[in-house]
Amino acid sequence: MTVSYNAEIPLDDSYDVVIAGGGPAGCAAALAAARHGAKTLLLESSSALGGMGTSGLVPAWCPYSDKEKIIYRGIGLEIFEKVRAGMPHLKETDVDWVPIDAELLKRTLDELLTAAGVDVIFNALVTGVGADTGPSGKKRIRYVVAAHKGGLRAWGGNVFIDCTGDADLVGLAGIERLFGDEKTGKVQSATHCFVLTNVDEHYYRAMPTQHSSNPKAAVYNLVKSDKYPLIKDGHFCHGLVGPSAIGFNAGHLWDVNPADPRNISRALMQGREIAHEFQTGLKEELPEVFGSAWLAQTAPSMGLRETWRIIGDYTLTVKDYIERRSFPDEIGRNCYFIDVHRTEQKKGTLEPGEAEAPEEQYQPGESHGLPRRILQVKDGENILAAGRNVSTDHRVLASVRVMPVCFVMGEAAGVMAALTGKGRDIRDVDTGKLRDTLKKDGAWFG
Ligand SMILES: Cc1cc2nc3c(=O)[nH]c(=O)nc-3n(C[C@H](O)[C@H](O)[C@H](O)COP(=O)(O)OP(=O)(O)OC[C@H]3O[C@@H](n4cnc5c(N)ncnc54)[C@H](O)[C@@H]3O)c2cc1C
Repeated sequence: MTVSYNAEIPLDDSYDVVIAGGGPAGCAAALAAARHGAKTLLLESSSALGGMGTSGLVPAWCPYSDKEKIIYRGIGLEIFEKVRAGMPHLKETDVDWVPIDAELLKRTLDELLTAAGVDVIFNALVTGVGADTGPSGKKRIRYVVAAHKGGLRAWGGNVFIDCTGDADLVGLAGIERLFGDEKTGKVQSATHCFVLTNVDEHYYRAMPTQHSSNPKAAVYNLVKSDKYPLIKDGHFCHGLVGPSAIGFNAGHLWDVNPADPRNISRALMQGREIAHEFQTGLKEELPEVFGSAWLAQTAPSMGLRETWRIIGDYTLTVKDYIERRSFPDEIGRNCYFIDVHRTEQKKGTLEPGEAEAPEEQYQPGESHGLPRRILQVKDGENILAAGRNVSTDHRVLASVRVMPVCFVMGEAAGVMAALTGKGRDIRDVDTGKLRDTLKKDGAWFG
């Protein structure tokens, strides 16, 4: 059964740039747009900025360097350095796999976006889009509708940037988006991150590596034990996120679909159970480190590595990755490894991820380009995307989805949006001008 629902909705169409989603991509996009003079609105469905880095409790930044130099620069580096500086146990030379204090990251983003003049609206889930056909014959978004405690509200603007991670804006505009693996339709497994406090820091620092790359890691005993049925593979990443506080990105859940209300609700409950199994199991396996540990928090949001993505003017493929390809319109570069968390649980293995092919493995100093066209929604005139939902194939998404890369893509989308003339197509922005502006702002690419 269906119902039809009509409503008179207040509209504020005073904005130049409207961004849906305030994760790494959305925050970088908002900062870049506002700093370039655009009146910018950021709609965020949760109560904090930072996306997976805060509401997802992801405990560490993926590497900022290509093992020779820092390659993710500009706004992403500015945010990273501010947060690192506020964590006294970290050094200025720490650039790879640096832990995140999620509360500090939230406040840092609040301060930066406020200072730049971005209007941030929390608890605003974008649930509708008003679009028609623009002069180019492609879809032109006129306004978005967000559900808020105060009722439905509509916000209009010149350019719209989809930073929801799920290509929500694009889907709501009636434009085709893709989901998961091209062959199977499956997405990478999810992880519900959590924090244990009251950990013995001295023993934590001294213990042998507990990464799944060590076959003697304690997590393997948890996987083999009948006592922890929800710990199904050896995925076990962690970092010191505060005094005696360890953030965990550990365990997996499969077939999680955020668009299915019952499925995602069940997954969140199961994620909390998994965190509790880890707490109990680690107490038993590594008592000197975790004997008195307390499960302080599970993430407010489920950790989804992959859902929907846009179809862009260009789709970045694993072939581009293997060829270390450069592009004349590139707006950044990437070297993170192809980090595919299995789409299906594999029986009899403790390894959490899919192996990379030898030709996919980058040497120090190697990287590939990120063309602006992967941010441009093919069937949209004034619609950009940045972050986890850009135009790539399933395999290369497992590389470009991580936070330093999302910052780089977000910043480029924000600048492109700010440079787009009133009523114009985002493609009218001159590539040379875009790249010069980004470089002047500190970005790095070939
Ligand atoms: C379990 C897990 C572990 C990871 N580990 C690492 C790691 O160690 N290091 C690393 O760098 N990266 C890691 N990543 C990847 C990285 O965290 C994400 O891919 C990255 O945060 C994506 O950035 P984003 O801005 O595209 O999306 P997100 O961070 O997902 O942010 C999207 C934001 O949009 C909001 N939103 C969604 N829909 C709507 C809507 N309709 N209306 C309004 N707001 C909306 C969300 O609330 C959220 O705040 C991990 C990811 C996961 C899931």
